[in-house]
Amino acid sequence: MIEPNIDPKLLKPYDPKETEDRIYKLWEDSGYFNPDVCLEKGIINSDAEAFTLIMPPTNANGSLHAGHGLVMTIEDLIVRYKRMRGFKTLWLPGLDHAGFETQVVYERKLEKEGRTRFDIERNQLYQEILDFTLLNSSNIKGQVRKMGASCDWSREKFTLDDSIVKTVYQTFKKLYDDDLVYRGNRIVSWCSKHQTSFSDLEIKDEERIEPYYYLKYGPFTISTSRPETKFGDKYVVMHPKDERYAEYIDGQKIDLEWINGPITATIIKDENIDMEFGTGVMTITPWHDNVDFEIAERRGLEKEQIIDENGKLLPIAGEFAGQHIKKARGLIIEKLQNKGLVEKVEENYKHVVRTCYKCGTILEPQIKNQWFIKMKPLAEKALEVINQNRIEYIPDHYKKITVHWLENIMDWNISRQIVWGIPIPAKICNDCGHGMVDLDNTILKCKKCNGSVRVDQDTFDTWFSSGQWPFATLGYPDSNDFKTFYPTDIMETAGEIIFFWVSRMIMLGLYITGEIPFKKVYLHGLVLDAKGQKMSKSKGNVIDPLTLTEKYGTDAFRIGMIVGNTPGTSLSLSEDKIRAYKNYANKLWNITRFILSSTENVIYNENFNKYIEKENVLISERSEFISSITKEMDDYKFYIVGEKIYHYTWSRFADVIIEESKEIFLNGTPEEKESRAQFLIDTLSKILKILHPFMPFVTEELWSIIPVDNKKLLMVEKWPKAEKPEVLS
Ligand SMILES: [Zn+2]
Ligand SMILES: [Zn+2]
Repeated sequence: MIEPNIDPKLLKPYDPKETEDRIYKLWEDSGYFNPDVCLEKGIINSDAEAFTLIMPPTNANGSLHAGHGLVMTIEDLIVRYKRMRGFKTLWLPGLDHAGFETQVVYERKLEKEGRTRFDIERNQLYQEILDFTLLNSSNIKGQVRKMGASCDWSREKFTLDDSIVKTVYQTFKKLYDDDLVYRGNRIVSWCSKHQTSFSDLEIKDEERIEPYYYLKYGPFTISTSRPETKFGDKYVVMHPKDERYAEYIDGQKIDLEWINGPITATIIKDENIDMEFGTGVMTITPWHDNVDFEIAERRGLEKEQIIDENGKLLPIAGEFAGQHIKKARGLIIEKLQNKGLVEKVEENYKHVVRTCYKCGTILEPQIKNQWFIKMKPLAEKALEVINQNRIEYIPDHYKKITVHWLENIMDWNISRQIVWGIPIPAKICNDCGHGMVDLDNTILKCKKCNGSVRVDQDTFDTWFSSGQWPFATLGYPDSNDFKTFYPTDIMETAGEIIFFWVSRMIMLGLYITGEIPFKKVYLHGLVLDAKGQKMSKSKGNVIDPLTLTEKYGTDAFRIGMIVGNTPGTSLSLSEDKIRAYKNYANKLWNITRFILSSTENVIYNENFNKYIEKENVLISERSEFISSITKEMDDYKFYIVGEKIYHYTWSRFADVIIEESKEIFLNGTPEEKESRAQFLIDTLSKILKILHPFMPFVTEELWSIIPVDNKKLLMVEKWPKAEKPEVLS
């Protein structure tokens, strides 16, 4: 038998390892990731419409995980499709310093080395984390390339770039000048392990079963799960309409015996008290409880701190001062019991506590002097555009939860007591605590009281900078990019950061630019393990995308992540599925080998018009298939398209059409052979094009081999149009 005279590569099985880096380099060297180059080289028309996707900045503190793998896959797919449709397509990559997240990762590293951040001088710690971040970022960029991401590296941004920091500062200043940011003593959630405050989002609610205590407070019974906060309680609050306590009047003083001796308490009648809850009477601890803080603010009551920032009791606790609250609780109850002040203990009280989302420490509400953004005015503008459907949510139930969150929004604490982040450009008065934004470092005295000032040592919540990402990365306000590419077309990210990030980008984007930052939001679900469990290092079920791409090829990983993955729902990632798609890449390889070896002497003609009737039926079918998937691509239904292409290629094209071609090539007339040969190559070239966004490497490689004239790189070829067959007359 004579070996067919075809590209020798095809005689061996497809080898992703040999192919992928070489192909990526080819793409990168072509410059086509950059829309300006596409324009220069005539790949797109000068009047081409822009299509923009800003990559969610990857946290530069570790390796690419499965979730990133999904982001890169979906976004690259969108971008490659739009590029092939002739858009002036920009996918702008970026990295996030990821403030608290990165600091936590770094602290774990320090812990392993037997060090702690509290022993390291600020500047040194910052420098260490910066070095760590820069090292990680170069790894991550390599990994993003490994995923085949066709993003424009020439426009890459980092959240700590001077240009980004400048934009973030100007936004802060504008908020301050517009009276939308203030510094004030408000209740914040404090993590005693991490020694920083949070916003109301960095919180994990956890159900706990703990004892619940009913304590005698003078003539009343009060109930609490936290007796250790009760040292300073001197206001006893009840509803003015509660008949049980009609004999008491607002402002009345009563003497009573309390934990550390006699005290005088004041009666407060307040309509916000729930008469049905417990005995209808409560004492308040404004420093360590949100509800109590609100009552105290409204009624002008005194607030006293009971617990310090390390979770230890302050001198107000008398003999318990200096003890950690965890240890003190039992001892306090013991003392109260000895004094006959414990009425009863309910042992299994189920309630929800707020914990630090990173370390699980119970968050202590503390009054802190921090920077807050007034969110209501910003949220109103966002609600307006969302309710007008100017931003489309995929899937659409995210619209509803966004609206609900925006309608109930709270002021946003943007101060973090950590070193790693963008420093807040402000001065704080040492005397009155007044905060002043100071971009050029010129404020030397307090503008309120003329007191001395100090530099604010805090950094911004990392979401404050990433919340400005779409306009900051595009060089707002003057750059050409901003004019060309803003508002962006789509924001694709994880559903779990819909409030943290997506909603804040809408609010800040509208506030600064007056325009929405993106027209669509595509939210993907979590990537779970094969059993549907959340991946975690402690469970040992983490699937590393790079191990899978190494084993099965990036293409197999990509299409495995897409097929069956509807937006907004969790995806179970199984190795078997990825392995199956490796077979698919091989199948394409074998299909190509068969077609090229059976059509060796045929010169492929893209405009061939002598198809016989039988081929015309197949062309109609193919045409319908292409127009249906094109519609679905436009509707962002990639999970359906991936599956359809797979089935068309394998079950229809390979199993049926190619199989029957064998007979034609053996016994058909010259016209039949020619017609079939042209059809097979034509169909193969169309399959490679429509499959390219899903499996870019193997398709690009095969494209370089098949006999098509005037080939460009497949990544900039035009997406096939549904065609009308010409019937042979
Ligand atoms: Zn913590
Ligand atoms: Zn002052």
